[in-house]
Amino acid sequence: MKTIDQLNFEGKKALIRVDFNVPLNDKFEITDDTRIAAAIPTINKIIKDGGSVILMSHLGRPKNGPEAKLSLKHLVNHLSKALNVNVKFVTDCIGSEVETTVSHLKAGEVLLLENLRFYAEEQNGDTDFANKLAKLADVYVNDAFGTAHRAHASTAVIANFVGENKCFGYVMANEIVNLEKLVNEGERPITAIMGGAKVSSKITIITKLMDKVDKIIIGGGMSYTFAKAMGGKVGDSLVENDKLDLALSLIAEAKEKGVELLIPVDSLNADAFSNDANTVVTDIDKVEDGWMGLDISDKTKTIYREAILSSRTILWNGPMGVFEMDKFAEGTKFVANAIADATAKGAFSLVGGGDSVAAVKKFNMQDKVSYVSTGGGAMLEYLEGKELPGVKAINS
Ligand code: AMP
Repeated sequence: MKTIDQLNFEGKKALIRVDFNVPLNDKFEITDDTRIAAAIPTINKIIKDGGSVILMSHLGRPKNGPEAKLSLKHLVNHLSKALNVNVKFVTDCIGSEVETTVSHLKAGEVLLLENLRFYAEEQNGDTDFANKLAKLADVYVNDAFGTAHRAHASTAVIANFVGENKCFGYVMANEIVNLEKLVNEGERPITAIMGGAKVSSKITIITKLMDKVDKIIIGGGMSYTFAKAMGGKVGDSLVENDKLDLALSLIAEAKEKGVELLIPVDSLNADAFSNDANTVVTDIDKVEDGWMGLDISDKTKTIYREAILSSRTILWNGPMGVFEMDKFAEGTKFVANAIADATAKGAFSLVGGGDSVAAVKKFNMQDKVSYVSTGGGAMLEYLEGKELPGVKAINS
């Protein structure tokens, strides 16, 4: 794997594809700067070597050309503070103004280009656009794991125009090293904890994981589709009625492959989707009409804790319940604690996917798991065994 550590950037201009797709409020203030913070070590390494840095990213989903609210200019102050450097900004990402600014860029300076997705060519993977970007610098660095599963101009196609002058930044390198620990180097038993709202969004990954893991723990809204498929009564819980057969086939496949598939046995039910709702605990297959299951309960927690503590490698994707409401956050918190305890005993634990990362942050447990992945879709595709275009572009 070729990383920035193998290169010396003295006197070089590095063009880094970062993932600065950060959430902004109405005042264009950054409400979560995790992605910016993650890229700082890569930028600093290049500056320390005596190189200059050109940053390119997308922000949001511009529909048809430039949109003021999606301009990367909103990030300049925050980034300048984070780097302790006066970050320069240009109102385009290709063209003569950009080229002139780049030509004047001195060692230690940082230039942020405008939102790549103001050009449709970015997402279309246009070769001419990619070539124009490539020409701006001496070395191309890909550090945007969040978009590594997309074959866009700046994430993959650009690599065709830089020869051997390409490498991974620290974010990408860390993701690959840690995901490999799970995919190909995982010490057994390997357990995948899959939660979240719907089975439909997790089918592919659950099926693929059957070939890699020893246990799959199911939680969250999708549990009720499994419970109903097995003949249970799930009241008004979230159910995908068109996925009942699929749930049964996943159960059969797990049996055939010798994978232990754990489905909740009990459920914390509410009479409304609200933190003020009345609650009652029942077996998961005995939820009355008028009630919806919004979290796992004590019997399930005990079984899941035991399964987690006896694992050496753990993947966690998706909450066990509606953790955004305190009343239904206990199951997710309990599982997070079990993962932390297993990690303290020497297991490798990787948390990924938007909502489990949000849960880990909510419970302030980032430091108690081995690794928190920054890429949702990219992480799932990597775990499914797909070769990500952004990774392939650097490796080939
Ligand atoms: P996902 O994006 O598929 O990982 O789903 C995450 C969402 O699933 C979170 O917003 C949770 O509140 C929601 N969720 C978890 N458990 C349940 C449940 N039992 N019923 C409805 N929604 C749930």
